[in-house]
Amino acid sequence: MTQTLEIVELGDPVLRQIAKPVKDCNTPEIQTLIDDMLIQVKKARGVGLAAPQVGVPLRLFIVAPSPKSHRYPNTTLEEGLVVINPTIKSITNKKTSDWEGCLSVPGIRGLVSRKCHIEVSYTNRLNEQVTQEFDSFVARIFLHENDHLDGIIFLDRLANNKDIMTDNYYFDMMEQLEAKEGN
Ligand SMILES: [Zn+2]
Repeated sequence: MTQTLEIVELGDPVLRQIAKPVKDCNTPEIQTLIDDMLIQVKKARGVGLAAPQVGVPLRLFIVAPSPKSHRYPNTTLEEGLVVINPTIKSITNKKTSDWEGCLSVPGIRGLVSRKCHIEVSYTNRLNEQVTQEFDSFVARIFLHENDHLDGIIFLDRLANNKDIMTDNYYFDMMEQLEAKEGN
């Protein structure tokens, strides 16, 4: 049975643990957890959600970029890509910086530098082994969620503590940028 999951916030020790591999994704517990997480990430309007963020220290996360702002031909991705026991290889050493937020750190944005092209291997919810390449925004979400499995929060990756702002300032800044681009 599905249930509403509660998102834990920074300060909860589960966010600082090293999560354990999922041994078998074909159990009702894991499949229900996945269903609940897919519902929760949509409800919370997030672009990703890792199991430790709902209090479950397992190596599992959802990548769900909003189809509105980022078009990807792969519908699975738009509905929410289910990633179990991932491993990541970088394709280039090139990094880009962008603003990130996190459902477990409400109201705060930080400028984070990350590798911008990665090759990932993981198990999907059908227990199939998948290898894929991601770049730009999806690569960023993937790396952010993967960090959660190792107890790392995006704030740990700030180059400078001054690279931080509240949601209010962030949304103002984005509006101004959009207005500029519109001109
Ligand atoms: Zn997060």
